[in-house]
Amino acid sequence: MSSQVVLASGNKGKLKEFGDILQLMDMEIVAQGTLGVADADETGLTFVENAIIKARNACEHTGLPAISDDSGLEVDYLNGAPGIYSARYAGTDASDADNIDKLLKALQGVPHEQRTARFRCVLVCMRHKLDPTPLICLGTWEGYILEAPRGEHGFGYDPIFWSPEFDCASAELTPVQKRSVSHRGKAVGLLTAALADFLK
Ligand code: IMP
Repeated sequence: MSSQVVLASGNKGKLKEFGDILQLMDMEIVAQGTLGVADADETGLTFVENAIIKARNACEHTGLPAISDDSGLEVDYLNGAPGIYSARYAGTDASDADNIDKLLKALQGVPHEQRTARFRCVLVCMRHKLDPTPLICLGTWEGYILEAPRGEHGFGYDPIFWSPEFDCASAELTPVQKRSVSHRGKAVGLLTAALADFLK
Protein backbone atom coordinates (compact mmCIF):
# COMPACT_ATOMS: atom_id res chain seq x y z
CA MET A 1 0.00 0.00 0.00
CA SER A 2 1.32 3.47 -0.83
CA SER A 3 2.00 5.86 2.07
CA GLN A 4 -0.22 8.89 2.59
CA VAL A 5 0.61 12.58 2.71
CA VAL A 6 -2.01 15.16 3.67
CA LEU A 7 -2.41 18.37 1.67
CA ALA A 8 -3.12 21.34 3.93
CA SER A 9 -5.50 22.92 1.42
CA GLY A 10 -8.95 22.33 0.02
CA ASN A 11 -8.05 23.67 -3.43
CA LYS A 12 -8.88 21.06 -6.14
CA GLY A 13 -6.27 22.40 -8.57
CA LYS A 14 -3.52 22.06 -5.99
CA LEU A 15 -4.72 18.57 -5.01
CA LYS A 16 -4.48 17.44 -8.64
CA GLU A 17 -1.04 19.01 -9.15
CA PHE A 18 0.47 17.48 -6.00
CA GLY A 19 -1.41 14.20 -6.53
CA ASP A 20 0.30 13.76 -9.91
CA ILE A 21 3.75 14.35 -8.40
CA LEU A 22 3.27 12.07 -5.42
CA GLN A 23 1.78 9.26 -7.48
CA LEU A 24 5.10 9.04 -9.30
CA MET A 25 6.71 8.43 -5.91
CA ASP A 26 4.15 5.80 -4.92
CA MET A 27 2.60 8.15 -2.36
CA GLU A 28 -1.04 9.11 -2.05
CA ILE A 29 -2.15 12.67 -1.33
CA VAL A 30 -5.29 13.26 0.73
CA ALA A 31 -7.00 16.63 1.13
CA GLN A 32 -7.16 17.70 4.76
CA GLY A 33 -10.93 18.30 4.48
CA THR A 34 -11.46 14.58 3.71
CA LEU A 35 -9.86 13.83 7.06
CA GLY A 36 -11.96 16.40 8.91
CA VAL A 37 -9.17 18.97 9.36
CA ALA A 38 -10.34 22.60 9.45
CA ASP A 39 -8.26 25.41 7.90
CA ALA A 40 -5.68 26.94 10.23
CA ASP A 41 -5.72 30.71 10.85
CA GLU A 42 -2.96 32.32 8.79
CA THR A 43 -1.54 34.46 11.59
CA GLY A 44 2.08 34.54 10.38
CA LEU A 45 3.80 37.62 8.99
CA THR A 46 5.67 35.78 6.25
CA PHE A 47 4.75 33.30 3.51
CA VAL A 48 7.07 30.79 5.22
CA GLU A 49 5.40 31.16 8.63
CA ASN A 50 1.92 30.79 7.15
CA ALA A 51 2.89 27.70 5.17
CA ILE A 52 4.40 26.14 8.31
CA ILE A 53 1.29 26.99 10.38
CA LYS A 54 -0.88 25.23 7.77
CA ALA A 55 1.34 22.14 7.50
CA ARG A 56 1.73 21.82 11.29
CA ASN A 57 -2.05 22.03 11.75
CA ALA A 58 -2.58 19.23 9.22
CA CYS A 59 0.12 17.03 10.81
CA GLU A 60 -1.28 17.62 14.28
CA HIS A 61 -4.79 16.55 13.35
CA THR A 62 -3.91 13.57 11.17
CA GLY A 63 -0.58 12.20 12.42
CA LEU A 64 0.52 12.15 8.76
CA PRO A 65 3.26 14.10 6.95
CA ALA A 66 1.79 17.25 5.39
CA ILE A 67 2.40 19.54 2.42
CA SER A 68 1.20 23.13 2.42
CA ASP A 69 1.66 26.21 0.30
CA ASP A 70 1.38 29.94 0.62
CA SER A 71 1.67 32.43 -2.18
CA GLY A 72 1.00 36.01 -3.15
CA LEU A 73 1.91 39.05 -5.20
CA GLU A 74 4.45 41.73 -4.20
CA VAL A 75 4.30 45.13 -5.91
CA ASP A 76 7.47 47.23 -5.52
CA TYR A 77 5.72 50.62 -5.82
CA LEU A 78 3.50 49.55 -2.87
CA ASN A 79 6.48 48.40 -0.78
CA GLY A 80 5.60 44.73 -1.27
CA ALA A 81 1.79 44.95 -0.81
CA PRO A 82 -0.47 43.04 -1.08
CA GLY A 83 2.08 40.29 -0.16
CA ILE A 84 0.82 37.79 2.40
CA TYR A 85 -2.56 39.57 2.28
CA SER A 86 -3.02 39.00 -1.48
CA ALA A 87 -6.19 36.88 -1.18
CA ARG A 88 -7.85 39.40 1.18
CA TYR A 89 -6.37 42.66 -0.19
CA ALA A 90 -9.79 44.27 -0.72
CA GLY A 91 -11.35 42.61 2.38
CA THR A 92 -11.92 39.15 3.88
CA ASP A 93 -14.61 38.18 1.37
CA ALA A 94 -13.05 40.02 -1.58
CA SER A 95 -13.38 38.48 -5.05
CA ASP A 96 -10.47 38.37 -7.51
CA ALA A 97 -12.12 41.27 -9.37
CA ASP A 98 -12.31 43.35 -6.15
CA ASN A 99 -8.61 42.75 -5.44
CA ILE A 100 -7.61 43.63 -9.02
CA ASP A 101 -9.71 46.77 -8.89
CA LYS A 102 -8.09 47.94 -5.67
CA LEU A 103 -4.60 47.26 -7.00
CA LEU A 104 -5.21 49.08 -10.28
CA LYS A 105 -6.54 52.11 -8.38
CA ALA A 106 -3.46 52.11 -6.11
CA LEU A 107 -1.25 52.15 -9.22
CA GLN A 108 -3.25 54.70 -11.24
CA GLY A 109 -0.89 56.97 -13.17
CA VAL A 110 2.24 54.99 -12.17
CA PRO A 111 4.43 54.53 -15.27
CA HIS A 112 5.31 51.09 -16.66
CA GLU A 113 8.91 51.05 -15.40
CA GLN A 114 7.71 51.60 -11.81
CA ARG A 115 5.10 48.80 -11.99
CA THR A 116 7.52 45.96 -11.26
CA ALA A 117 6.10 43.04 -9.25
CA ARG A 118 6.63 39.38 -8.47
CA PHE A 119 4.61 36.37 -7.46
CA ARG A 120 6.06 34.27 -4.66
CA CYS A 121 5.25 30.70 -3.74
CA VAL A 122 6.41 28.80 -0.66
CA LEU A 123 5.86 25.06 -0.39
CA VAL A 124 6.48 23.33 2.91
CA CYS A 125 6.59 19.66 3.83
CA MET A 126 6.64 18.57 7.49
CA ARG A 127 7.14 14.95 8.54
CA HIS A 128 5.29 15.49 11.86
CA LYS A 129 3.90 18.36 13.91
CA LEU A 130 7.17 18.97 15.77
CA ASP A 131 9.42 18.60 12.72
CA PRO A 132 12.25 21.06 13.49
CA THR A 133 13.60 21.07 9.92
CA PRO A 134 10.68 21.31 7.47
CA LEU A 135 11.43 21.09 3.76
CA ILE A 136 10.93 24.62 2.36
CA CYS A 137 10.86 25.26 -1.40
CA LEU A 138 10.66 28.83 -2.77
CA GLY A 139 9.69 30.04 -6.24
CA THR A 140 9.43 33.58 -7.65
CA TRP A 141 8.14 35.01 -10.94
CA GLU A 142 9.19 38.56 -11.89
CA GLY A 143 6.93 40.74 -14.05
CA TYR A 144 4.93 43.96 -14.33
CA ILE A 145 1.43 45.09 -13.35
CA LEU A 146 -0.67 46.01 -16.39
CA GLU A 147 -3.01 49.02 -16.53
CA ALA A 148 -6.10 46.92 -17.36
CA PRO A 149 -7.03 43.21 -17.14
CA ARG A 150 -6.33 40.87 -20.11
CA GLY A 151 -6.99 37.17 -20.77
CA GLU A 152 -9.37 34.52 -19.51
CA HIS A 153 -7.16 31.85 -17.91
CA GLY A 154 -5.82 31.39 -14.40
CA PHE A 155 -7.09 33.04 -11.23
CA GLY A 156 -6.29 35.83 -8.78
CA TYR A 157 -4.11 38.57 -10.25
CA ASP A 158 -3.32 36.68 -13.49
CA PRO A 159 -5.24 39.16 -15.73
CA ILE A 160 -3.02 42.08 -14.62
CA PHE A 161 0.38 40.33 -14.31
CA TRP A 162 2.61 40.76 -17.36
CA SER A 163 4.97 37.88 -18.15
CA PRO A 164 8.18 39.14 -19.79
CA GLU A 165 8.97 35.54 -20.90
CA PHE A 166 5.83 35.26 -23.06
CA ASP A 167 5.19 38.99 -23.60
CA CYS A 168 1.55 38.70 -22.54
CA ALA A 169 -0.63 38.63 -19.41
CA SER A 170 -0.45 35.57 -17.18
CA ALA A 171 -4.18 35.05 -17.84
CA GLU A 172 -3.37 34.70 -21.57
CA LEU A 173 -1.07 31.71 -20.93
CA THR A 174 -2.14 28.07 -21.07
CA PRO A 175 -1.69 26.17 -17.78
CA VAL A 176 1.36 24.40 -19.24
CA GLN A 177 2.96 27.69 -20.35
CA LYS A 178 2.27 29.28 -16.97
CA ARG A 179 3.75 26.35 -15.05
CA SER A 180 6.95 26.54 -17.13
CA VAL A 181 7.76 30.03 -15.78
CA SER A 182 5.60 30.61 -12.70
CA HIS A 183 6.52 30.89 -9.03
CA ARG A 184 4.43 27.77 -8.30
CA GLY A 185 5.95 25.80 -11.17
CA LYS A 186 9.46 26.55 -9.88
CA ALA A 187 8.62 25.68 -6.25
CA VAL A 188 6.89 22.45 -7.33
CA GLY A 189 10.00 21.53 -9.36
CA LEU A 190 12.19 21.93 -6.26
CA LEU A 191 9.73 19.96 -4.11
CA THR A 192 9.59 17.16 -6.66
CA ALA A 193 13.37 16.89 -6.67
CA ALA A 194 13.68 16.82 -2.87
CA LEU A 195 10.57 15.09 -1.54
CA ALA A 196 11.37 11.39 -1.86
CA ASP A 197 14.65 11.82 -0.01
CA PHE A 198 13.04 14.04 2.61
CA LEU A 199 10.27 11.57 3.44
CA LYS A 200 12.33 8.39 3.36
P1 IMP B 1 -3.00 31.20 -1.56
O1 IMP B 1 -1.58 30.82 -1.60
O2 IMP B 1 -3.89 30.17 -2.17
O3 IMP B 1 -3.43 31.67 -0.20
O4 IMP B 1 -3.15 32.44 -2.55
C1 IMP B 1 -2.85 33.74 -2.19
C2 IMP B 1 -3.37 34.73 -3.20
O5 IMP B 1 -2.28 35.18 -4.00
C3 IMP B 1 -4.39 34.19 -4.20
O6 IMP B 1 -5.69 34.28 -3.71
C4 IMP B 1 -4.18 35.12 -5.38
O7 IMP B 1 -4.87 36.32 -5.16
C5 IMP B 1 -2.68 35.40 -5.32
N1 IMP B 1 -1.94 34.46 -6.19
C6 IMP B 1 -1.09 33.47 -5.79
N2 IMP B 1 -0.61 32.81 -6.86
C7 IMP B 1 -1.20 33.36 -7.94
C8 IMP B 1 -1.13 33.08 -9.34
O8 IMP B 1 -0.46 32.14 -9.80
N3 IMP B 1 -1.86 33.87 -10.13
C9 IMP B 1 -2.63 34.89 -9.66
N4 IMP B 1 -2.76 35.18 -8.37
C10 IMP B 1 -2.04 34.42 -7.51
